[in-house]
Amino acid sequence: LSPEELLGINKFAVDEDEAHIVLDKAICATCKEKPCLVVCPAVLYTLKGGEVNFDYAGCLECGTCRVVCKDKGIIKWTYPRGTFGVAFRCG
Ligand code: SF4
Repeated sequence: LSPEELLGINKFAVDEDEAHIVLDKAICATCKEKPCLVVCPAVLYTLKGGEVNFDYAGCLECGTCRVVCKDKGIIKWTYPRGTFGVAFRCG
């Protein structure tokens, strides 16, 4: 299976009421490097009109975006609340 097909096997219980990752858009706009655009394995960070767009719904909870952004104060990152989040189906 391709990486995309493997990712498609996972199941997500999306918490519609509380995002577990929140971006501070004002600080984000000052970040020149924007490493989040290249490190997320689920490609949840995209650039639209020069602004970072983010959708937490397909998050794999790997924490990579938190690590690359930790000193900038842009990302408020927690695990999803109980019963929500990703359920890996392969492995
Ligand atoms: Fe992407 Fe991992 Fe950050 Fe989730 S925790 S948004 S999968 S980099």
